[in-house]
Amino acid sequence: METELNELWKSALGEIELQISKANFKTWMQNTAIAEKKGGVVTVAVPNSFAKEWLENKYHKFILRSLRNLDSGIKDINYKVQQNRVSDKDERTRVKKESDKAQMGFQELNADAITGLNPRYNFENFIVGSSNELAHAAALAVSENLGKRYNPLFIYGGVGLGKTHLIQAIGNRIIKNNPAKKIKYVTSEKFTSEVVSAMRSGSIRPNDIDEFKKRWRELDLLIIDDVQFLAGKEKTQDEFFHTFNALYNAGKQVILSSDRPPKSIQTLEERLRSRFEGGMIADISHPDLETRIAILKSKSGEHNLALSDDVCEYIAQNVRKNIRELEGALNRLIAANDRTDKKELTVGEVKKALNSLLSAPKKSTSFKNIIKAVAEFYDISEKDLLDRSRKKEVVKPRQITMYLLREELKSSFPFIGEKTGGRDHTTVMHACEKIKKELNSDPGLTDEINSIKEKLYLI
Ligand code: ADP
Ligand code: MG
Repeated sequence: METELNELWKSALGEIELQISKANFKTWMQNTAIAEKKGGVVTVAVPNSFAKEWLENKYHKFILRSLRNLDSGIKDINYKVQQNRVSDKDERTRVKKESDKAQMGFQELNADAITGLNPRYNFENFIVGSSNELAHAAALAVSENLGKRYNPLFIYGGVGLGKTHLIQAIGNRIIKNNPAKKIKYVTSEKFTSEVVSAMRSGSIRPNDIDEFKKRWRELDLLIIDDVQFLAGKEKTQDEFFHTFNALYNAGKQVILSSDRPPKSIQTLEERLRSRFEGGMIADISHPDLETRIAILKSKSGEHNLALSDDVCEYIAQNVRKNIRELEGALNRLIAANDRTDKKELTVGEVKKALNSLLSAPKKSTSFKNIIKAVAEFYDISEKDLLDRSRKKEVVKPRQITMYLLREELKSSFPFIGEKTGGRDHTTVMHACEKIKKELNSDPGLTDEINSIKEKLYLI
């Protein structure tokens, strides 16, 4: 009996290990065991109350799912502190230390400490539709021809549309096929903070800078997420440029993501912009209805939640902003479904469960917020934006400001003119017309304005 339980637990741990980060796994799963299995209820023995709390609150679902996959008769789990498993002082210190480490990475829960990749993001669970098929095809091609085709690969698109998922999927595919490859995924903020701290300690210990350089330049694949945040950070851009060149010249792959195309990242050094543009640029746009339905089906399947076609269609019709929001809706339904005793949800129940999500009135915005969002997006000061300057970098953002004031606030042309540096109302009309016309012919501009609007309603 005991060995049977041991085997069961070993297999369950094997599955859990794939789903949570190494640091968390080591911290919370070490020194656990199944103490008992009776009437569909499994008792898991843990070394201390600290671990008990964490397993109950954070990992219960993972554990239950893994056990059920192995034995469908299992209905519930109890956690019990087993004194003789504890652990002398050393054990407690170990747990504390490792949990601190795990906590530090809380934001990147489940990310691998070395590569920075989260195994949750893979090609297998990425749904392809017309909005992302080009980006997906390019990502696949890169994962099969690392450094040889499409270098760098630059993927851009609005919030919550799957950029991070796709670029991490490439890394995860490479690791699976070729574990010896050196891969690093970082956000541009993390890269920046590493550059800054290397320079700081390098001023005391010059070797630190060399070490930093070496570490980045020996990678086979470097993935930097959200590179729009590199804008305006000169030192970081400089270091990135050198890292990029070193990798590129050695035939190593670089993958980048951003919320906009390279040409729209203001204050990006020209040499970087042209580097980015020298590879493959692919965008991800908003998913159409069919894709939203496919994503719902796939994700509800992952969570063992059966949704009828009517329900899927209802959700997909009403939740259209992005995929993250679709996931949010689904999470609510999973919670609601627990209450309705596992019966298939009706459209009525879904409506009720999503009520507050769907009927939230369109948030209103203000003159101040529009100025702030545009200035932030183009990384220029609000003063420059409203000034009379004719500098090229401010002319377009200013026209977009006028356009948004007109579209979002329905302000009058003379009012907009007055608020944007005392301009004549005909100048404003001209600007709004121009932007409207360009929107018809320049999909990049549509993306930019959508991103600004997203920002606007988050402020
Ligand atoms: P972005 O980085 O563009 O803001 P993410 O990659 O974080 O967006 O995606 C938001 C959420 O939507 C993630 O949980 C991701 O797994 C999911 N997602 C995005 N695109 C897809 C897709 N095509 N298929 C399945 N899930 C997706
Ligand atoms: Mg992202």
